[in-house]
Amino acid sequence: MRVLFLGAPGAGKGTQAALLARRLGVPHLSTGDLFRQAVREGTPLGREAQAYMDRGELVPDAVVVGMVRERLQGETGFVLDGFPRTLPQARALEEELAVLAAPLDAAVLLEVPEELILRRLTARRLCRSCGAVYHLEFHPPRIPGRCDRCGGELYQRDDDREETVRRRLEVYRQETAPVAQFYRDRGLLRQVDGTGSEEEVSHRVASALGR
Ligand code: AMP
Repeated sequence: MRVLFLGAPGAGKGTQAALLARRLGVPHLSTGDLFRQAVREGTPLGREAQAYMDRGELVPDAVVVGMVRERLQGETGFVLDGFPRTLPQARALEEELAVLAAPLDAAVLLEVPEELILRRLTARRLCRSCGAVYHLEFHPPRIPGRCDRCGGELYQRDDDREETVRRRLEVYRQETAPVAQFYRDRGLLRQVDGTGSEEEVSHRVASALGR
C-alpha cells in the first residue's frame, strides 16, 4: 500500500505514519527525519537544509524532490510523512509514481485545531538516538529526559520553539494546505480527526483506509 500523511506541523503525522508503516510492513519515509539526520551527520544536504529548517521555512522543492525520488526507487509500498508540502512537490511525486507504475492509494489529512497544535509542539521532545516522539504532558517518558525505547537522550527541536512554530504554521497555511485540494480533486483525500490519543487516531486512520 502507498499512503501519505498531510497535516499541520504537530498534527501527528510522524507518529501515525510510523504506526501505519509498521502495521503494513512498509518503509516509513519522513523528509523531516531525513533532513535532521543529514544535519546531524553534517552532510552537504544537511548543510543546505539547516538554514531553512532553523527559520521554519521550506527547503527548496528541487532538493526535497531529488532526495525523495532516490528513496522511492525499488519500493513497492511506503508511508510518506512531511512530503509533499507544496503543489510542485505533489506534481513531482505524481509523475515519479507514474514512472514506477505505482500510484498512490490515499492521502490522509490529519485535522487538529491550531491551539492544540501549539500546545503539542512546544512541549514535544524527541529522542536523539532513535527519533521517538514524546510530549511532556500528553505522552511523557517513564524516566524524565530519557527515551523509553532505547534510553537515548530527549531534546527539543530548535524549530519547536514558539516563534518558529508560528512561522511554520503560516508556511503550512500558504504552501501546504492547497496540497489537500490536489488530492481531493483526485478522489484520494481521507480527512481524519487528529485529536485524542495515538490509539484513537490510529483506529480512525485504519478505518479511513478501509482496513
Ligand atoms: P517536519 O519534521 O516534517 O516538521 O520537517 C522539519 C523541517 O524540514 C520543515 O520545517 C522544513 O524546513 C523541512 N522539510 C521537511 N519536509 C519538507 C518538504 N517536503 N519540503 C520542504 N521542506 C521540508
